[in-house]
Amino acid sequence: MFENKVVWITGASSGIGLAFAEALHNQGAKLILSALTEDELTPVVERLSGSFPLAFDVSDFDALPGLVELALGAFGRIDVLVNNAGIVQRSLATETSLDVYRKVVDVDLMAPISLTQLVLPHMLEQGQGRIVVMSSVAGKIGSPLRSAYCAAKHGLFGYFDSLRAEVLHKGIAVHTVAPGAVKTNLAHNALRGTGERYGVPDDFTEGGYLPEYLVEQVLKRIQQGKYEIIIARGLERKMQ
Ligand code: NDP
Repeated sequence: MFENKVVWITGASSGIGLAFAEALHNQGAKLILSALTEDELTPVVERLSGSFPLAFDVSDFDALPGLVELALGAFGRIDVLVNNAGIVQRSLATETSLDVYRKVVDVDLMAPISLTQLVLPHMLEQGQGRIVVMSSVAGKIGSPLRSAYCAAKHGLFGYFDSLRAEVLHKGIAVHTVAPGAVKTNLAHNALRGTGERYGVPDDFTEGGYLPEYLVEQVLKRIQQGKYEIIIARGLERKMQ
């Protein structure tokens, strides 16, 4: 399904994005790989030979049009956009500064919307394309200490479910993904209400899925033609 497809993955240097990159590389996709930090991205790009590196801050909105042009120039087209880059906050709602709300909403909600708005015209011109967006179960239900994250992840369902209805008949598939806990660096990198890193222990997501398993399940459901993909123990049936 992804052989020879050009796939642009944000947040590809670790966790779920890295697992996507590895799985799609094995399926013969041509990859454009993005992350915030070039140092984190370089070893991944070296390992997944033939992939094109593009490190940037997804919340640098002024730079995005130029970056999309660079991505389009890498292989001449983009068939699949995986909006995966994300950050989480861990603080009481009332102790979370507006700067932190803005940062989380910019990275987790406005950036996927902006990248999609920029890539979509090219997909429409091609007459086909696929957009995958990584929301969360926190995009379906509220969660204490994660108000900014939940607000952004809920917003993704609002925007991308609406978009799906507008573009499906034009050959564009939009998949919204809501995983439960996955063992990655996300919680370790969480922001406190004041903006510093929280630095919770790496075993915070103990009991969570391995990223490779999550991605295997997501790709299976995409292949089955599912658009809303919820992979969370016990919650899956309740929420669909
Ligand atoms: P990781 O922290 O392992 O990976 C996050 C990725 O996003 C990294 O590649 C990071 O780049 C990149 N990134 C972070 N901020 C920016 C930015 N401003 N600009 C560009 N890239 C950025 O997290 P996960 O793999 O867990 O998360 C991936 C997605 O999955 C997120 O959207 C998250 O919300 C979602 N998710 C995760 C769950 C979990 O339990 N882990 C559960 C449900 C959803 P760099 O390494 O250079 O900083």
